[in-house]
Amino acid sequence: MSAAVLIATRNEGKLRELIPLFTARGVRAVGLEEWGIAYEEAEDALESFATFEENAVAKARYFYEVSGGVATVADDSGLQVEALGGAPGVRSKRWAGATTGDVDGANNAKLVRELAGKGSRAARYVCAAAYVGLGRELVRRGEVAGEILEAARGSGGFGYDPYFFAPELERSFGEASLEAKGAISHRGRAFAALVEAIVASESD
Ligand code: IMP
Repeated sequence: MSAAVLIATRNEGKLRELIPLFTARGVRAVGLEEWGIAYEEAEDALESFATFEENAVAKARYFYEVSGGVATVADDSGLQVEALGGAPGVRSKRWAGATTGDVDGANNAKLVRELAGKGSRAARYVCAAAYVGLGRELVRRGEVAGEILEAARGSGGFGYDPYFFAPELERSFGEASLEAKGAISHRGRAFAALVEAIVASESD
């Protein structure tokens, strides 16, 4: 794989999870801020597709162009709750309508409200990870199953993590270490598969 990869996210939580996945494989991973790519309003319109895969590819393509051709990875991820017909899904980031302030708090409050009295609390996190660079475009998906808790547990992670109980870890993602979450998470799995695909495509 190339010596450095641009990670196309402004989400600090995601960046904290993604950088070690690449450095563990000897690849320097750099976020948008560190690369000096300033925020543009056009970024907000990138994730307007109906699937995680399309959104991730759109984001990776955009930042590949903006960076002047630096190999770029991006992800699009979200929570799918069975009893809510798969919502919030690709709309997870701004589900409650808040764009400033405690966005995660507003989303989690809505989750608790909408699930009150529902029989099933089954959910899964989904992540599509995309790579654009060296004349290639690749995308891989990762998922992790869990259950939505009635009350928050732990304060680690980001987004919906304190309410997401992962049976594989026997704790919530809010209680899990970065390493434990990364080993089984939707993002960890999607990026592990993506890195494998990038390496395999380099020997084609
Ligand atoms: P996007 O991929 O930047 O569109 O954002 C996805 C949104 O889904 C985040 O803002 C969170 O609300 C939620 N989400 C995705 N992955 C995670 C995770 O690992 N933990 C908690 N929330 C997540």
